[in-house]
Amino acid sequence: MQVFKFGGASVKDAESVKNSAHIISNYKVDALLVVVSAMGKTTNLLEEVTKAYYHHTGKAFEILEKAKAFHFNILSDLFDDHNHPIFDEIANCFVEIEWILEEDPQDPFDYLFDQIVSTGELVSSKILAAYLHHIGEKSKWLDARNYIMTDNTYTEAQVNWEKTEEIIRTEIPSILDEYIAVTQGFIGSTSENFTTTLGREGSDYSAAIFASCLNAEYVTIWKDVPGVLNADPKWFEKTELIPELSYTDAIELTYYGATVIHPKTIKPLQNKNIQLNVRSFLNPETTGYKNQEHKCFTTCPILYL
Ligand code: ASP
Ligand code: MG
Repeated sequence: MQVFKFGGASVKDAESVKNSAHIISNYKVDALLVVVSAMGKTTNLLEEVTKAYYHHTGKAFEILEKAKAFHFNILSDLFDDHNHPIFDEIANCFVEIEWILEEDPQDPFDYLFDQIVSTGELVSSKILAAYLHHIGEKSKWLDARNYIMTDNTYTEAQVNWEKTEEIIRTEIPSILDEYIAVTQGFIGSTSENFTTTLGREGSDYSAAIFASCLNAEYVTIWKDVPGVLNADPKWFEKTELIPELSYTDAIELTYYGATVIHPKTIKPLQNKNIQLNVRSFLNPETTGYKNQEHKCFTTCPILYL
């Protein structure tokens, strides 16, 4: 089986959602689990909502409206039928935030952050799953909070690997026999069913957790860069693709600030010897797969032990 991870930039507007869905459709394998982040800058926006609420600035609802409008614009571009049930589903997710905002804040900031900000991933994954279904793919939305079990260190929750592995192993493989599973990055749940988050940019880590527990063959992170580069293209004009990289070098790179992969991602993959591919969602053909068996990588940067 394989895990695909799509970050915020790959679902930042309707065109990108369509592009990501078509990548899934074109490159899917027999058993595929897709992990998706919040759309575009949604996480930052929902963080603003949380701050406004916590600090009583009176702006929380107004900022939330921006997040809602952003998602409903994307939905209207994706689905001609505005009676499609996904519109209500997404509205209901935002209502849950409104319920929180209607009460005076009683809980610690980090707890509130996780309850509010996690909505970004819940809605993006619901939209992607619904769009996949719309284009004829058998997709199933999975709530990552039923699988990724954590402690209650809100905003930086630590994974309970034993429990997580047991649940994922017993429940997910049979789903993947029939469906493309679509789930959220970044979020998990305490044993008391409170939502947690795994640290900013934690969706790569979620992909690695699922991959590790399912003994995936590959994890592919679809990004807006062609792969792992030798320098940050934001600062350097001439960058080169590093075609292959050992896990150890990759850990070192992320340690020195390379932002291409979340640092926590690599260890679980290294432990299980799972290959990580970084590929461009803008140019999927140029970086890789030559055939449907997905065995033939050309310039696709890979990480190996
Ligand atoms: N949406 C979360 C964030 O922006 C997680 C992620 O993108 O990986 O931090
Ligand atoms: Mg992100």
